[in-house]
Amino acid sequence: MDNKLDSLLSNRLFVTLGMEINMTKQEVLGKYFGYGSFRPGQETLIDAILDGRDVLGVMPTGAGKSVCYQVPALMLPGITLVVSPLISLMMDQVKALNQAGIHAAYINSSLTEGQIGRALTLAAQGRYKIIYVAPERLETEGFLAFAGSVEISMVTVDEAHCISQWGQDFRPSYLKITQFLEQLPARPIISAFTATATRQVREDILCVLGLADPEVLVTGFNRENLYFEVRHVKNKDAQLLDYISAHSSDSGIIYCATRKNVESVCAYLEDMGVDATRYHAGLGADERRRAQEDFLYDLKPVMVATNAFGMGIDKSNVRYVIHYNMPQSLENYYQEAGRAGRDGAAADCILFYSPQDVRTNQYLIEKSKDDQEMEPQVREAVLEKDYERLKKMTYYCVTHDCLRDFILRYFGEYGSSYCGNCSNCLAHFESEDVTQVAKTLVSCVAGSRQRYGINVILDTVHGANTVKVRNYGLDRNPCYGKLSKVDTPRLRQVLNHLLLEDYLTVTNDEYKLLRFTPKTKELLEDGARVVMKLPRQEEGQAAQKGKRPSGKAAFLEDEERDLFEALRALRMEIARQERVPPYLVFSDKTLLEMCRKRPEDRAQLLGISGVGERKLEKYGALFLECVEKASKRSD
Ligand code: ADP
Ligand code: ZN
Repeated sequence: MDNKLDSLLSNRLFVTLGMEINMTKQEVLGKYFGYGSFRPGQETLIDAILDGRDVLGVMPTGAGKSVCYQVPALMLPGITLVVSPLISLMMDQVKALNQAGIHAAYINSSLTEGQIGRALTLAAQGRYKIIYVAPERLETEGFLAFAGSVEISMVTVDEAHCISQWGQDFRPSYLKITQFLEQLPARPIISAFTATATRQVREDILCVLGLADPEVLVTGFNRENLYFEVRHVKNKDAQLLDYISAHSSDSGIIYCATRKNVESVCAYLEDMGVDATRYHAGLGADERRRAQEDFLYDLKPVMVATNAFGMGIDKSNVRYVIHYNMPQSLENYYQEAGRAGRDGAAADCILFYSPQDVRTNQYLIEKSKDDQEMEPQVREAVLEKDYERLKKMTYYCVTHDCLRDFILRYFGEYGSSYCGNCSNCLAHFESEDVTQVAKTLVSCVAGSRQRYGINVILDTVHGANTVKVRNYGLDRNPCYGKLSKVDTPRLRQVLNHLLLEDYLTVTNDEYKLLRFTPKTKELLEDGARVVMKLPRQEEGQAAQKGKRPSGKAAFLEDEERDLFEALRALRMEIARQERVPPYLVFSDKTLLEMCRKRPEDRAQLLGISGVGERKLEKYGALFLECVEKASKRSD
């Protein structure tokens, strides 16, 4: 088999320039990318580009932004330059294009001057249709000379939010793009892409890049294939191991809040026999690179990391992202969790919550501001915003409503209140009228003149006999001991609900005092009723667990699962020989479709999403053989 594999793999078929001008966009999508139809938004942007218009595409991670510029790049007469912020991102994209049979190259600081010179010579001869370039390169003499001597049809700005000073990832070098464009003999089409949705960033992109009457497309941020779950857990290590063991052949990322946590969690998993690796900013460059490669190439399926890991990671077969600690904001959470399931197959996003995480994050937020030189007033304002974001993140962890809906509303979209694919939608709740408990809590806050935090208020209504309660004279509060029969977890749930529903709020300073809101009056004076969803007391988390077979394996019968494993093994073998990450051979989603459809010949194989002509040539025979063997066994 090895020989056969070798000879098939050496059979290189590449696109020659200009050949695709006569193809339709559907044909290009099918031939090179192997997809049968466009995803929402892709066509609009491609059509606009082909009409010669500038575009801005705002789409969530995994929505398929690359196709939006790669398909037209093949159809336009000249070269497309793609400005991209990260070396790893460029390498990954170029590898994927080469896999699909498209000549592409990158030019960045990972190459020697000699290599850059050779690449530019080949490029000037028209060898590459798509060239990725780091923004710093644009202004160099060699590159400008090249750019002035060839036909450049389009300049694509990837991760375009890096151009905005208001974004999270501002890169001054991105401002060079404008100057570069001005120096070109003819103005190319400009297309810009980002996953950052805020209006300010969007306007910055349009303005700084000077897009002319652009087609601006903002798609919804929902990712249907992602399952969301929040777990309130005491023993996080045990839960983590439990999950990973049940998904041992899947690849996943575990995000921790601190380097220390990364070290201890990774060591624990390794002790338990899990093939895990780790990544954080405290490690040397070599070690980080090795860890990243081990993960990309599926040699170590589990990555334990801080949020330093992930930007520019296009690995499409990440089947789960677990947050060992709650992140600092929903922006961070959605970006990190969104690295799961880029291939569109089912994937899990699970957050392990413990109240300790709130304190850790407060500390991290404070500390991060110490490192930056800021005027005291600015510092206050920034801290206030950070705390507000942290508060919303905490609400996500305690809400009993649809988690997806919560996220989408946070980003300014209207979801439906039931998604059917999150832990809250799948849990058994019952509605309960908690008006009396709610009123007592609010009265207690009133009776102590809004001067205390959550724990003191809970102690008071519970009638605790603590030093604090006695010292503050809270045993004389009219509500003292009034809710002694309600257990503390439930009291906390009701209080959380009051915060979520804006009947009460907490201050954003270090004391976290409970305060009234304009809505509090409705409860105390207007007779508003408070009804909330509560998990059935006897059930709780134990019942939730195991109810939902998770991950993609859930959708496979035993037989199919065997075939899936066989296909995955074949993919790994090919990937090793070709020295590419396995997901660049075929995505998990493509393998899953092979399991379900069991293609018998080349035509049927070509009909599977993700199988293009080039991959059919290279791998078709091997995968057909694998499917056939499995079908014989099961006859
Ligand atoms: P983004 O850059 O928006 O995060 P990518 O461009 O990496 O997303 O695309 C995510 C995944 O979706 C990739 O595996 C890509 O091949 C796949 N994809 C893109 N367009 C389509 C399509 N029309 N049909 C099926 N899969 C697609
Ligand atoms: Zn839901």
